[in-house]
Amino acid sequence: MPKSKILYVEDEPFLAKIVKESLESRDFEVHLLTDGRGVLAAADTFGPDLCLLDVMLPHRDGYALAQDLRRARPHLPIIFLTAKSQTEDVLKGFDSGGNDFLRKPFSLEELIARIHNLLNLAGPKNAAPQAATFIGKYEFAPHRYELKLGTETRKLSHREAELIKIFADHQNRIINRKDILMRVWNDDSFFNSRNLDVYITKLRHYFKDDPSVQIISIKNVGYHFLVESTPN
Ligand code: CA
Repeated sequence: MPKSKILYVEDEPFLAKIVKESLESRDFEVHLLTDGRGVLAAADTFGPDLCLLDVMLPHRDGYALAQDLRRARPHLPIIFLTAKSQTEDVLKGFDSGGNDFLRKPFSLEELIARIHNLLNLAGPKNAAPQAATFIGKYEFAPHRYELKLGTETRKLSHREAELIKIFADHQNRIINRKDILMRVWNDDSFFNSRNLDVYITKLRHYFKDDPSVQIISIKNVGYHFLVESTPN
């Protein structure tokens, strides 16, 4: 099986060396850049499966790099490494198309868990594409990151697709909030819990054109994903 490739941008040499060696010892192939220059060229020649971006970088910050990378490779999973903890910075990270973030200092185990989580959803390189499923009047195509209603197609972020996949697999069932947090974020901290609220608001908006699809909050438990079957 080919090794998964990680493009890693980090300007702190000591940290970069430790992380690179640890990932290599876990059978990843790592291409390290010490600043933001040449990231797109490296993405082209190296062909990464995932990108690990330090946020505070000389020349061009991690968020700007993520935007560049996303234009070139819309489905490349990205993990931001940030020393900042302010919510607005993290949200800015998601706006620029990030899939996950880790606050420094982080444990290598946690980093590896996040990488596995994102790569598993992206799927092994030769896996059969996941079939599209219907959610009420919507057609959800996880492999294309698309949610369609009639002729309208909405492009989804990696995280949105991940959440909708969970809901699609649990139609008319109750989903435990903690299970969602652990599956998507690997962590049920207060911070990620608030983050989930933001995503649920978004998903409700995405499904608003079919009143038979509803995400009902159940206090202290999670969500009931109601989908009335609609005759075609
Ligand atoms: Ca830095």
